[in-house]
Amino acid sequence: MALYKHGNHLIHSKDVAFDATYTPGTATPHSGIYRCTGCGDEIASNAGNPLPSQNHKQHGVSQGAIRWQLLVYAQQQA
Ligand SMILES: [Zn+2]
Repeated sequence: MALYKHGNHLIHSKDVAFDATYTPGTATPHSGIYRCTGCGDEIASNAGNPLPSQNHKQHGVSQGAIRWQLLVYAQQQA
């Protein structure tokens, strides 16, 4: 589970961007931290880069397929 210390720099959001899940190798839609819905592993990925597959640990049968879901959306200054 992701940790943070300074909560005043994080904002709770109900944006639909947090609802979608992505298969390994999909181009990262938004820079940020992603969580695997199968095993709970967390990774950081930059927009446009492929979401991990090869370097992600093997799943057991009960964990199902690797699916990445946005956990923390990194907002970049315009
Ligand atoms: Zn996983």
